[in-house]
Amino acid sequence: MKKTRLFWLQCGACGGDSMALLSAAHPSLEYLVVESQLELLWHPSLSPTQFETQLEAVLHDEQPLDLLCIEGSIVTAPNGTGMFDCYRDRSKLSIVEALAAKARYVLAMGTCAAFGGIHAAPPNPSDCIGLQFEGAIPGGLFAPEWRSQGGLPVINLAGCPCHPETMAQTIAMLVEGLPFELDHLNRPKPFFSTLVHQGCSRNEYHEYDIEETEIGTNGCMFFNLGCQGPLASAICNTELWNGRNSKTRAGVPCFGCTSPSFPLDQELFKTEKIGTIPARLPLGVDRAHYLAYKSLAHEAAPERVRKREMEP
Ligand code: SF4
Ligand code: SF4
Repeated sequence: MKKTRLFWLQCGACGGDSMALLSAAHPSLEYLVVESQLELLWHPSLSPTQFETQLEAVLHDEQPLDLLCIEGSIVTAPNGTGMFDCYRDRSKLSIVEALAAKARYVLAMGTCAAFGGIHAAPPNPSDCIGLQFEGAIPGGLFAPEWRSQGGLPVINLAGCPCHPETMAQTIAMLVEGLPFELDHLNRPKPFFSTLVHQGCSRNEYHEYDIEETEIGTNGCMFFNLGCQGPLASAICNTELWNGRNSKTRAGVPCFGCTSPSFPLDQELFKTEKIGTIPARLPLGVDRAHYLAYKSLAHEAAPERVRKREMEP
C-alpha cells in the first residue's frame, strides 16, 4: 500500500485535538500508522524527528505531503504579521501558507482551526481567525475559493475538541481515497449530518417537555440548562466517546462546540429565553409550531416520565 504522509502543526491551540486523536478506536492512530501506511512526518507530541528537517524537506519538494493537519486558530496579531505565534523568526501563519501550497489535502483539526473558536472570542486580543472561515463567514487565512492540490477546500473537522472517530475516520477515508461530501461549512457530511440530540438518552424527557433546573438530574437540559444538542451537528451520541459516554449522557449540557458560533457569548449552563421559550430552538423548528407542540407534549407526558423514573 502507498504511504500517506501527514504533517501536524499546532498554532493557537490547547492541544486538545491531539489528545482526542490518541483515544480514537475505529480506527486507532496505531492502526492507521501500522496497517494503513500513514507516515507521521511531524507531530509535536509523537515525532522523534526534527521539525525543521521535515519542514524544509516538504517546502523544497524533497518530501511529498498528503495531509496537512492544522490544530488551533491562526494568530494574525500584531498588525497582520502573525508574529505573536512564531517558530524562530517565522510566523506560524506563513508556515501554514507555505505548507498548504504543497499539501494534497488540508484539514482543520478542531473548531479553532476551522472557525477561530475560543481564541477568536471577543475581545480576540491576538486577532485569531480560522483557516478558511472567520466564525460562520467564509474566508479566513485562505479565501473562500481556495482549494488544495486535491481539489478540496480546507476540510473542517469541527469540535472542541473534534470527536476522535471523526478525525480518525476522515483521515482513513482520505488514505483509502474514499469520496465524501462536505456540508455548507466544509465539514464532512458523514460526521456532521446528525445532531447531538439524536441518540441522547434523555430524548424522552425532551419529547414530553420535562424540564430540569439542576445539573445531575434525570431530565432534558435544553429548556433551562443551556443544552444545544438539538442544534449541534456531531456524532457524540451515536458514536460514544471512548465507546462509553457523551456529555449529555453524563449529565452535562452540550455546548455546541462544532458550531462556527462557538463559544456563544452567554452562560454555559443557562438557556437564554424569549419569555418562557428558549431563544434558540431545535434546528429547523419554527417558534409558532414549537409553542403549540410544547404545551401539548407536556400535558401528554406519561407518569413514569413526569416522575423522572427513567435513568438517562
Ligand atoms: S439533554 Fe440535550 S441532547 Fe439530550 S435530549 Fe435534552 S436537548 Fe437533547
Ligand atoms: S456534546 Fe456538544 S459540546 Fe460536547 S463534544 Fe459533542 S458537540 Fe461538542
